[in-house]
Amino acid sequence: MEPRPLKKPEWLKIRMASGASFAATRQLLNRHSLHTVCRSALCPNLQECWSRGTATFLLLGNSCTRSCRFCAVDKNSRPHVPDPDEPENIAAAVQSMLLKHTVLTSVTRDDLVDGGSGHWVETIRATRALVPGVTIECLIPDFNNEEASLDLVMREMPDVLNHNIETVPSLYGKVRPEANYRNSLRIIERAKKTHGLVTKSGIMVGMGETPEEIASAIDDLHRHGCDMITIGQYLQPSADHLPVVRYVTPEEFTAYRVLAETAGFRNVQSGPFVRSSYHAEALSTGHSSFQ
Ligand code: SF4
Repeated sequence: MEPRPLKKPEWLKIRMASGASFAATRQLLNRHSLHTVCRSALCPNLQECWSRGTATFLLLGNSCTRSCRFCAVDKNSRPHVPDPDEPENIAAAVQSMLLKHTVLTSVTRDDLVDGGSGHWVETIRATRALVPGVTIECLIPDFNNEEASLDLVMREMPDVLNHNIETVPSLYGKVRPEANYRNSLRIIERAKKTHGLVTKSGIMVGMGETPEEIASAIDDLHRHGCDMITIGQYLQPSADHLPVVRYVTPEEFTAYRVLAETAGFRNVQSGPFVRSSYHAEALSTGHSSFQ
């Protein structure tokens, strides 16, 4: 039997910040029939980000072929054939939202021969064609560690190549059973060494890892060429997902930030509500770190 959920501490009370532009963002996304990881993954920052007129687009549908136990994205439905209009629709949304920096991500599509990498390329190209000058951050899946698929996307030279390690190696079996910590590090290394990209990764805390394991993961990422890092509190999306083992205090997040900055990361976000795409534009342009 799973233990009773922990009571949320004060610092994790959701900040309801929806303004007039929240509804406008929602309407626009609905009009273009787009999925976002904000909604599909039940992100706690949805009110804030959509009110700021930003969102993270979820490519290739909203059904995932992996069974990660932290993630709220649907894993039970059969994935659809990729929507051929999605690249143009995302580009149109980026244009309408007047975004200067956009974050693209996708579900994992192990059912597709190329893992969906061709669709990623079409989306990047369509967005750049319609919105010249926009910077694009690609938060990619591991593409089953297929180098051809990884290279296809990396050769598009996204402004930021983001791939999350998510957790420490000892928890992979229960958190990301079909993924591999070393392979995720190698994706970051490939983006940096082979393609010369600006790289970013993220870790969730509060899943049962030790502070020493987090310190070691921070060090691993830095040694593999990671430039930017996000560290945030894991929140259990439903009773069917992994329980939170511990709520990490704001002081501990500050300590992780200092650790990562000392290790040499160019930009660090570390705080309870930090997510991989939280304030991504500010992080990519080097404006401060958030707590
Ligand atoms: S943090 Fe990222 S996923 Fe969450 S609401 Fe903001 S843009 Fe969406």
